[in-house]
Amino acid sequence: MAILGYKSNACWGSKGTLISVRVCLLASGSRGNATLVEADGCRLLIDAGLSAREIDRRLREIDLCADDLDAVLVTHEHHDHVTGIGPLARRHKTPVYIVPETAAAITRLGPIEDLRYFSAGESFTLHNLEITSFSTTHDAVDPVGFVIDSAEGRIGYATDLGLSTRLVVNCLERSRILVLETNHDEQMLIDGPYPWSVE
Ligand SMILES: [Zn+2]
Repeated sequence: MAILGYKSNACWGSKGTLISVRVCLLASGSRGNATLVEADGCRLLIDAGLSAREIDRRLREIDLCADDLDAVLVTHEHHDHVTGIGPLARRHKTPVYIVPETAAAITRLGPIEDLRYFSAGESFTLHNLEITSFSTTHDAVDPVGFVIDSAEGRIGYATDLGLSTRLVVNCLERSRILVLETNHDEQMLIDGPYPWSVE
């Protein structure tokens, strides 16, 4: 399993130079989050927290462009994850997979032609990929992470993880590539059930 840290525009492939699976962190952090996942010929963008133009520019740096995207998956409604979704989807006719509550919580999403709703915990297929969502703990209406199963193995993705629950661990184990971003809340630790040695 490869465990990735966040580094802008860094790409990891599972087979060295012959890349059949790659995960590229186009942006991460409070100024914007967007991750490209490419597997079995399918290209997904997880979150679009930059302008559509900037996402396209960063995709071109890795020899892709926004028209190449098969879908955008949304983890939660915070602006650093969704800023570019509406313009990107409208300009490039990209399908957007999103939890209904999350879509409703985005203030300026605008009309999106191909909005595909799912509930946290549900799976859906996109080309040859099996995508499973799972609930995460984060201060958002219905935040999710994803596991993406391809012929090349599993890719796990979870961002803004406040607390790693058994569900999250179960979903992410057996991932060949794992993208994790965690934050911790001091008060949550103090109030939590763990002994200080663990906290
Ligand atoms: Zn957030």
